[in-house]
Amino acid sequence: MPGRVSRVSSATSETVELLRALVREACVNTGEASSGGEIRAVRVLQRFLAEAVERRCCETRVFEASPGRASLVARVRGTDPDAPALGLLGHLDVVPVDAERWTHDPFGGDLIEGEIWGRGTVDMLYLTAAFATAFREVALAEERPRGDLLLLAVADEEAGSDYGLRWLLREHPDAFGVTEALSESGGMRMGDHVVVEVAEKGSAGRRLVVRGTPGHASIPFGAQSAAYAAGEVLQRLAAVAPAVELGALWRSFVEARIDDPDLAGRMLDPVRLDAALLELGGIAGYAHAASRVTISPTVLRAGQAHNVIPGEAHIDLDIRTLPGTTDDEVDALLAEMLSGLSAEVEVRHLRGWPATESPEDEPLFDAVRDAIAQTDGSPVVPIMAAGGSDARLLRELGIPSYGFGLLSADWSYERYRQRIHAHDERIDVASVELTVEALRRIVSARVG
Ligand SMILES: [Zn+2]
Repeated sequence: MPGRVSRVSSATSETVELLRALVREACVNTGEASSGGEIRAVRVLQRFLAEAVERRCCETRVFEASPGRASLVARVRGTDPDAPALGLLGHLDVVPVDAERWTHDPFGGDLIEGEIWGRGTVDMLYLTAAFATAFREVALAEERPRGDLLLLAVADEEAGSDYGLRWLLREHPDAFGVTEALSESGGMRMGDHVVVEVAEKGSAGRRLVVRGTPGHASIPFGAQSAAYAAGEVLQRLAAVAPAVELGALWRSFVEARIDDPDLAGRMLDPVRLDAALLELGGIAGYAHAASRVTISPTVLRAGQAHNVIPGEAHIDLDIRTLPGTTDDEVDALLAEMLSGLSAEVEVRHLRGWPATESPEDEPLFDAVRDAIAQTDGSPVVPIMAAGGSDARLLRELGIPSYGFGLLSADWSYERYRQRIHAHDERIDVASVELTVEALRRIVSARVG
């Protein structure tokens, strides 16, 4: 056994060092085409894989959607072209920081008291690093896997993937031959279960264009200000309550997370659910989002000059949909909300995508469940994520894709939600170790 332990810890320390190197490259994605600079992280990965490439154990290709916006695709050829080809999908970009609010340098990659600090450590560089470690280990092993193993380390996940996976899939509509995939975000604790994301809500963004009549602000009497009309629309929006819809994953969430049978019973009843939300503490927001379409006004704009009554106002809505929600249903919900205002308010469609789900009766899901059980002893709970990730682009192609990870015991789902994109983002070495260990089990089971 000592041999096995030291192997695990060396894979962990390699992953930790790679994670720290990726953090230091600071591939901050502001949404501007010129941001990101993921080519720097790609070079880190190229150095990490250099020996495997030199020994012709794997092939790598770098794709640059625009200058600096690079993604790396690496492949270990399997022995059986018909065996499933597993893609390990990790993004390289991170969201911006407010550096003054951080206790340590957000791009220092410091290792302090068993935690690696820095932007992106949780979302999702620890996982991208673990994917690279597992990939390299398979590449350098004597025995080849049955099916191909691919590492897809991509740009621009945080801003819509136009320079990352969405672009790559336009160039390679066969998704590089990947037939199943692991990506973010899983591994959080829900009760004594470990989360595997099997579905993600969809997005149906809308812009409400509210019209009034512009005029000089010094004589407001009788004016039709778009600002007041926008205020009325916002009041109505606050009162919209999309219907509760409890899908197939709802029951598994409730059973994993809620110990009290009375509370669980009320949560399974669409009529009594909303009153029960108040008793849920930190998980209430997730429970609310997972049980209905949600609408959040985000960007508001009206007016150009201090002394001009605005003739037009824009209200952008972030609308998150459930599996099966149609665009027409979203528009009908808004039309009802706007009843009587249709002359003043136009609804425009912003970019959206449907909710996506992967089945649980897939060999890869079984492999994830078994690896987590063997590593940690915990059962898994399949859930639907409220947000979105690149995994949806693969699910849209019919490729089963799961949000993976195995975080240490303190990582409740709500703690995870609080930590990502927040100040002082950091991950513990213990979580890196658990994730690497579970991942090695998944990929080594595909050999021989
Ligand atoms: Zn992410």
